Amino acid sequence: MTGIYIHVPFCERKCPYCAFYSVPKSGQLVDKYLDTLVREMASVKDNVQADTIYFGGGTPPLLGAENIAKVISFIDKQIDLTSPEITVECNPNSITPDALKALRSAGVNRLSVGVQSLDDGELRFLGRLHNVLQAEQTIENALSAGFENISADLMMGIKGQTAAAVEKAVSRLEALGVKHISVYMIKTEPGTPFDSDAVRASLSDEDELSELYLSVVKSCEDHGFTQYEISNFSRPGFESRHNLKYWLCEEYLGFGPSAHSYFGGVRYRNADTLDGYSSPDFGRVVTDPSPDRAEEYVMLGLRLNRGISLVKAASLGFGEEWREDAVSLAQRLGSNELCVFDGDRLSLTPKGMLVSNSVIGKLIYV
Ligand code: SF4
Repeated sequence: MTGIYIHVPFCERKCPYCAFYSVPKSGQLVDKYLDTLVREMASVKDNVQADTIYFGGGTPPLLGAENIAKVISFIDKQIDLTSPEITVECNPNSITPDALKALRSAGVNRLSVGVQSLDDGELRFLGRLHNVLQAEQTIENALSAGFENISADLMMGIKGQTAAAVEKAVSRLEALGVKHISVYMIKTEPGTPFDSDAVRASLSDEDELSELYLSVVKSCEDHGFTQYEISNFSRPGFESRHNLKYWLCEEYLGFGPSAHSYFGGVRYRNADTLDGYSSPDFGRVVTDPSPDRAEEYVMLGLRLNRGISLVKAASLGFGEEWREDAVSLAQRLGSNELCVFDGDRLSLTPKGMLVSNSVIGKLIYV
């Protein structure tokens, strides 16, 4: 089954750490965006079967619940949908109780809330437009609107953040009834206002980050959120079905400016500005005409707690000789507590996830 991703490129104000494509909203730009989106979705000629829709951004609720409902019903006409998980990302300052009710009535059944922190000082540092009270109220309003499947994003890495603070935030999210937590380490992306020495000096160093990460994993597990991916934790049965498609190398169609797709064996992306996206071919560029299936399986699969099968990686293209070398490497990684290995399945431990890039590189080029 394919996943459908819709990139909504509007934000009220740019957060200083954010490198995603977004622009301030205006009526004219929303019309231009929706016209192109409908044209792009109508251009899908294949008989696509999908079971997830994910509205990301940007700040999707800025489109208005009515427009989101129209997009969902357009997708429903174009694409064969089977019990879809429909997620909308939102910010606490950008969604009212009525809008939440309208989204729920439109079939949206999962909400991803950009909580980011449960500390007002940290929210100010992050340049966010909401405070802790608004974040908590949004979750409560979402529950009242009938959302059962609510995810909260948290950002980690501000200097001074402690294991106790992490524990408190996770415990609060549990008490609020959240079912899924995504934790991101703050990055100083090139070209953003956060890309400065002053900001870097306010962030945790590598050792502090490692400690924080291990406290996140422990706190989440202690509060019943099982880790299923490097940055993602959920109550049983509340894993993000859409995001799992990325890590399991399944197909997805991305619509909207800067959206990526993996479809028909090809990886491609749309132009990353609204102007480029409005061109006849959506500014589409093929980024990988023939993805290396074995390499992608190892690279993406090791992000997941379920890990990978070395037999499968060998059969996807790495071959038997690679598998034999990979078995020796996995045994060494296991004795250093970086992975769990049963002779075929290999999965990283939280300690291994801290150095996942290096482990993955070693395994692919073993
Ligand atoms: S609201 Fe989200 S997408 Fe928009 S600028 Fe902030 S972090 Fe980026």
